[in-house]
Amino acid sequence: MRSYIIHIDGDAFFASVETAKRPWLKGKPVVVGGDRGIASALSYEAKAKGVTRGMPVFQIRKICPDVIVLPSDYDLYALYSKRIMHIVRRYARIVEAYSIDECFADLTEPLDTSLSREDIVRKIAKDVEEELSLTVSIGLADTKVLAKVASKRNKPRGVTILEEGDREEFLKTTKIGSVWMIGSKTAAKLSGLGIFNAWDFSVQPLHWVRAHGNRPMEEIWRELRGESVYKVKEEAKEDQQSISRTQTFRPNSNDPRKLLSELSKNLENACIKARALDILPTRVSFFLKTESFAYRGTEFELEHPTNLPHQIMSRIEALFWTLFDKRILFRTTGVRLSGMMPSAQIQEDLFGSGVIRTQEKSIFECIDAINWKYGRHTISLLSSLSVYKHEENNQFLYDMKRLQLVYLGQVS
Ligand SMILES: [Mg+2]
Repeated sequence: MRSYIIHIDGDAFFASVETAKRPWLKGKPVVVGGDRGIASALSYEAKAKGVTRGMPVFQIRKICPDVIVLPSDYDLYALYSKRIMHIVRRYARIVEAYSIDECFADLTEPLDTSLSREDIVRKIAKDVEEELSLTVSIGLADTKVLAKVASKRNKPRGVTILEEGDREEFLKTTKIGSVWMIGSKTAAKLSGLGIFNAWDFSVQPLHWVRAHGNRPMEEIWRELRGESVYKVKEEAKEDQQSISRTQTFRPNSNDPRKLLSELSKNLENACIKARALDILPTRVSFFLKTESFAYRGTEFELEHPTNLPHQIMSRIEALFWTLFDKRILFRTTGVRLSGMMPSAQIQEDLFGSGVIRTQEKSIFECIDAINWKYGRHTISLLSSLSVYKHEENNQFLYDMKRLQLVYLGQVS
């Protein structure tokens, strides 16, 4: 049976997410990566002005004085990523998250058989644009390798449907080095053998491929010929083994409230990511780094895996005092969640504490939805509050007005 696979790729994803969150940035040159001092992502408008990835911010400001430079916000990108996958799941049974802004879906047996596959592809693009104010490019083809090449063809906002009749023309205009999984070394080797585009490669006989390449190369060759070798896999490409969040602050501090607040915020951020990925940690570690760069840390097991921060924060608070020393100034705190389990695997105890956890979980679903709509940390743990006040004055220059609601935690 012929298979139908789509590859969906977010257009200038990080910069587009920032623009979706702050609509007044639309049409402006936006660069993400201010926290590292170099452009890690950019909008098409920034690209048009000559900005490239990896360019230092000071240089960007020279060639593009009206640029808007923002710090990266990976948790936010992960949330948008998850929402894109949700939309794709309306139409496809099997969806594979390939990276934060890319996924594959199998449309061989679509969920809605009354629609053509081309209609489904256009509907996905339309839903994403209407609901998330983002654009994606989509390729539809017989195999993953072809779909991935196709999605790149008409970026941004491009839909490329690859029919068997178009394959020759399409592959002839695809450089061999831009085929998925063919790295620069392999591309150079193939060029040395007279293979410059994907078509040249795909028309070689099998014995030639076997003589010059390994098994993955043969698989790519089959995929380029329209024979589906790589299946769309439901699981994420890599299992998320741990989530860490650390933050250095200025000036150094020996104020326990400040330090606990920093830990609380790191914990909240790690938990947002864990909830976005639908995973729960079974172990938590945290540390304080002194002004002389010495680490003081500890780790504990969770009796019940959870990604709700207030359930973890009381343990951190209790252990904090074993690390803290009033005579020492600290510069950084960090929290790490590990021993991840998918939430579907966790059996809730339906009597007793399980009921409370289910209720709290739905509270956090509401909180995530509100923070999604109005900006991160619109609602935050009270124990994190002093961090936000500080950052409000120094940092979030482009942020929406925060409601600054607090929901849980202790006043100290
Ligand atoms: Mg992309």
